[in-house]
Amino acid sequence: MIAYLEHFVHGNDTESMPNDDVSALDGAFHFGATAAAGKDFGGMKSVKPRAVIRPALAGDVERAVKEAARTTYLTVAARGNGHSINGQAMAEKGLVLDMRAMEDHFTLLSLDDGSLYVDVSGGALWEDVLKRCVSEFRLAPRSWTDYLGLTVGGTLSNAGVSGQAFRYGPQTANVTELEVVSGKGETLVCSESQNSELFFATLGGLGQFGIITRARVPVQQAPDMVRWIRVVYTEFGDFTRDAEWLVTLREGDGFDYVEGFVFVNSDDPCNGWITVPVGPNQYFDPVRIPSTAGPVLYCLELALHYRNQDHPSAVDMEVDRLLGRLRFVEGLKFSVDVTYMEFLLRVKRVEEDAKANGIWDAPHPWLNMFVSKSNIAEFDREVFKKILKHGVGGPILVYPLLRSKWDSRHSVVVPDSNIFYIIALLRFIPPPPKGPPTELLVEQNHEIIQLCYNRGFDFKLYLPHYQSKENWMRHYGDKWSRFVERKANFDPLAILAPGQKIFSRIP
Ligand code: FAD
Repeated sequence: MIAYLEHFVHGNDTESMPNDDVSALDGAFHFGATAAAGKDFGGMKSVKPRAVIRPALAGDVERAVKEAARTTYLTVAARGNGHSINGQAMAEKGLVLDMRAMEDHFTLLSLDDGSLYVDVSGGALWEDVLKRCVSEFRLAPRSWTDYLGLTVGGTLSNAGVSGQAFRYGPQTANVTELEVVSGKGETLVCSESQNSELFFATLGGLGQFGIITRARVPVQQAPDMVRWIRVVYTEFGDFTRDAEWLVTLREGDGFDYVEGFVFVNSDDPCNGWITVPVGPNQYFDPVRIPSTAGPVLYCLELALHYRNQDHPSAVDMEVDRLLGRLRFVEGLKFSVDVTYMEFLLRVKRVEEDAKANGIWDAPHPWLNMFVSKSNIAEFDREVFKKILKHGVGGPILVYPLLRSKWDSRHSVVVPDSNIFYIIALLRFIPPPPKGPPTELLVEQNHEIIQLCYNRGFDFKLYLPHYQSKENWMRHYGDKWSRFVERKANFDPLAILAPGQKIFSRIP
């Protein structure tokens, strides 16, 4: 083991290494290969860590942080599944903790009041949490991401948003207790009532305050089936009015999932009509599109949960009642019935196809942001209809969220308005020379962000990434001093999550 570590300490970086002794890192640690930890899904950054550690228990995480603190320079990055875009889970010449290696922790808890929870490892994939909850207990968490190949600790460090967030809030609002190793190397259990400041700081905290080793997630009865529906709009105003109405309906009174996306009004195979149908043998008939339609069209994606014993006609009636109030284009409605698991794992198929086509491992210059309802029509006019009128080679998500479902005590920041939209440009472009240079697409992202600043939009980047402290200060606005205070309290040497590039390691 010593020899292995020596490879990093003395073999590769002899020139640049400070003289501190890191041999104490050796011992019961399990080390992993560094190549994967130097890359991420974004595929645009690559940095070499000093070592990759595979912790089994919170105690291993604690020891790694303590050992880093003994040096004047070592940083520690928890790596979930490395699905960040801009190197956020990397640690240049630091220690990367491969959180997927954490011991599988999965316990069902039932409280006196009848509420149910699962305790899961911070390094667990949501996909595995889903499978175990449903197959072992017919239960499920309430709030998801679209894609489940992400870790519990990774999404809770950001927010975790999907079509259920309008009702239950993001995943950060659906956790009642965390076990966290702080930047001081202390393992603490925290909740709203115990070590509450660490709890609030960690949720949406970009990994800055502690490493999540366990999370307690409320669960409820899982439905058996889902009616998965897509309806098409030509007018953005109709689309947003309907979407906003749907997200204000009470539970049991509306759909269980509401999302939306923009697509190109053409037969383009990656960006056009063909991306809309959900079931096999469904055909998008462009003759249905009114001649007044613009360069892009909009699609509401909806889902209604039901149980096997529900009568099909009752499901039909409920869907018809809700769809009857919507102003989508007649004839452009697609629907399919799938199991709840098939629905939640729907993006897995996209992953498999993208891997087969070589675009899963290509660079992904994605952009995610939250834009206030008050600016969304202008965003549509300037960005969807102009800058992105030819699409992004993948989904352009746009759907409303309710600010009341977000807890302002958490570290994540969102626009001020009661309704804001998540916008996600999920670019899947073949690598150059087949596709455009990645820099051009990054440039297009900057153009969009700059437009939002220039027009004074009330917006925030989601999964943010900035080059300068000034930009981070602007991002957090009046929450910046709270963020800095929390850092001083929980990670005073700025050891954690250096890849976010918010703070520099204090010697
Ligand atoms: P990583 O990328 O490995 O880590 C992200 C950050 O969290 C890093 O700073 C890391 O140091 C820190 N971190 C990781 N684990 C821990 C831990 N245990 N404790 C503390 N800090 C930790 N997001 C959504 O909200 N909704 C979606 O529908 C959605 N879909 C996605 C689909 C795809 C294909 C991809 C690539 C991303 C998607 N995301 C989505 C974004 C995703 O939430 C983020 O990438 C997030 O970072 C989770 O990825 P990860 O678990 O791989 O974490």
